[in-house]
Amino acid sequence: MNNPDTVDLSRTVATREALQAVPPQLARRLGVLPVMIADGQLYIVMADESDDSALSQFEAQMTMPVVVLHARAPEAVASVIRRYYPEQSGGYDGTSLGLLGEIVRRAMLYRCSDIHFDAESKTGLIRLRIDGLLRTDRVLPHETLNELISAVKVSSGLDMAERRVPQDGQLTMLIAGEEISMRVATIPTLHGEKLTLRILATESIAAELADLNMLGMSGAHHRLLLEALGNSHGVILLSGPTGSGKTTTLYASLRHLKEPGTLHILSIEDPVEIPLDGINQIRIDSDRVSFNRALRSTLRHDPDVIMIGEIRDAETADIAIKSALTGHLVLSTLHANDSVGVITRLLNLGVSVDLVNSALRLVIAQRLVRCPCPHCMTWTPATEADCEFFGWGADDRKIMLPRAAGCQLCHDTGYAGRLGLYEMIPVDRTIRDMIRSGESEDHISHYLFKECQIVTLRADGAEKVLKGLTTIDEVQRVTCLLRSA
Ligand SMILES: [Zn+2]
Repeated sequence: MNNPDTVDLSRTVATREALQAVPPQLARRLGVLPVMIADGQLYIVMADESDDSALSQFEAQMTMPVVVLHARAPEAVASVIRRYYPEQSGGYDGTSLGLLGEIVRRAMLYRCSDIHFDAESKTGLIRLRIDGLLRTDRVLPHETLNELISAVKVSSGLDMAERRVPQDGQLTMLIAGEEISMRVATIPTLHGEKLTLRILATESIAAELADLNMLGMSGAHHRLLLEALGNSHGVILLSGPTGSGKTTTLYASLRHLKEPGTLHILSIEDPVEIPLDGINQIRIDSDRVSFNRALRSTLRHDPDVIMIGEIRDAETADIAIKSALTGHLVLSTLHANDSVGVITRLLNLGVSVDLVNSALRLVIAQRLVRCPCPHCMTWTPATEADCEFFGWGADDRKIMLPRAAGCQLCHDTGYAGRLGLYEMIPVDRTIRDMIRSGESEDHISHYLFKECQIVTLRADGAEKVLKGLTTIDEVQRVTCLLRSA
């Protein structure tokens, strides 16, 4: 799988050195993306690999040898080139708005989900959340930070003079020809105002992400989910902390369901995170329409499938479960630590045992782990601690495990991209009996994970580590708070 001739641009960031070696006009005209410089050679990707004349013209302009890498998704190369080398210019024009555009453009290149503008005691920080973890992108004087924050506030219609109360808004910017929408939030902190931008996925990202085959589910998990989605009624519930990829799984499921075009799919969201064609997405404006009122109204629009962003209270839980019993397939998320905890949480929300038993089809717990950068990962034998973590015997110490290293292409993080770990419980007759007789979470867990050998999040992690899809450090990071099973 580690093919040095192929580069996955969705998981790779071009190095500054390589970008500087190629003038923007040349890159745009010949459709060339420089990726990195190593051993005195320039590695590039081309928008059209069959264009020999473009390549020879490019080589004639360069002073160092050129190596052409094949892009895994060649159709995306042209738009990636536009992001790195925007048409208008050389980027930052000295104004706050120009600097803001430059920061957002970089954030898009790094596949960043949130941009933080933080005021510290002496300086301001711009930090980017990439693959789930924050990284400082630049340090600025307080004054510049405040100008940037003001620019965002003005552009998103917030009250610029108000710095003492939190404000929320929305901002849309045109970045390299692509409309980027962001959610804006401000809050006063000890050293000044803090601002956070959440980048909302664009249509192109939505298309890239929301495919059930792309989530990293094992074949068995994929089949379990498809089987549950094949039901005409019942509830499928997902749990996991914020940022564990629940929304992506929900959207991928909806995309799968809308394919035949024979189902009416409604979703109630707060807010709508990814726009999807073919689905009636209802955005909740809590000032005017409450979540539950919207949910009740949707039932009068003859839906086959209802997606509820999150079940937060007893009333939503009640409507969701009852809709599932009246011929609707309901998909939603619920806050719980693991899959078994979802059942307890539903009961704690006051849903009766009988209703839970009749409606619940599948419970999914999930987490996101980072994938090791394919260009620099190494394999070393499992240590004693590794074996202990996964419950392996002493003989397993010969097993080779992938380790993250760090190279130019992953900006020394050792990681690029993410995939999901899953734990899925199909609710069968035995579990229904256990719920009915009031068995404890521990008993149900014992039955599922010891007797039925249901794959736990950690076991799913172990399988993916063995395949080189993630590292043991990542599995430890996201499963350390779970009961050991
Ligand atoms: Zn790397």
